[in-house]
Amino acid sequence: MALIVKCSLIAKHICKEVIELKNGKFSDRELERYSRQIMIEGFGENGQRKLANATVGIMGQGGLGSPVSIYLAVAGVGKLVIVDYQSPEISNLNRQILHWEEDVEKGISKVESAAWKMKKINSDIEIIPKKVKVTNENIEKVFAGVDIVVDCLDDFTPRYMLNDFCIKNRIPFVHAAVEGFHGQMTTIVPGETPCLRCLFPIPPPKKSTFPIIGVTAGAFGILEAAEVIKMLTGLGNPLKSKLLIGDLLYHFWETIEVCRASSCTVCGHL
Ligand SMILES: [Zn+2]
Repeated sequence: MALIVKCSLIAKHICKEVIELKNGKFSDRELERYSRQIMIEGFGENGQRKLANATVGIMGQGGLGSPVSIYLAVAGVGKLVIVDYQSPEISNLNRQILHWEEDVEKGISKVESAAWKMKKINSDIEIIPKKVKVTNENIEKVFAGVDIVVDCLDDFTPRYMLNDFCIKNRIPFVHAAVEGFHGQMTTIVPGETPCLRCLFPIPPPKKSTFPIIGVTAGAFGILEAAEVIKMLTGLGNPLKSKLLIGDLLYHFWETIEVCRASSCTVCGHL
């Protein structure tokens, strides 16, 4: 009984904090921490509140997932659900900057490795690590309650699963894919923009290993994090119905207008 009362008091305390945050009462430390972004025109405390009240799902904690997680953590996104089932390996370290030599030596999972650093990067936000291989059976549970999902994967099969889940549940979804020195990205809003299957009805052939350098994953991961911040705050023009293609080696950057496919098996009916 005493335990129930205690839990209830804790729950009330948490609720009070959430309500205060929704009403915009940041601590002095938070106001100081985010002061340089709050002063951006159109951002303000209101933009910071939108980030603080948001939950973002990040699928993959590798080359793209590392910069996405770091930059969303430092920006003050309130809750980050980080998902991966693998452990860091030495061949990951040229690009997966959240994982260090000591994490490989310890044999811990990528989400554990990422979570302890992200808590040190920003202790005012909540990190929810989920060491799980996402399947069609568990994806609803893994990403329950998220406002937006970020694709930080390196394989189209799980990407399609993520796409289908987001379309079904009307959750915006930021996609990026990288290889070598080049990459692509787009922001998908169910019912408004083309989905991944509209753009790529046939998945590219799967490669067990492909070349990649850290700067490419870093550049596109940061662009993905920027898309999330724009979508959450309502600032600027996200890459909706636009596919950005970029090559760092020759500085070829192009944005292509893309359309929905009425024949799409996943979003054509929306
Ligand atoms: Zn579609």
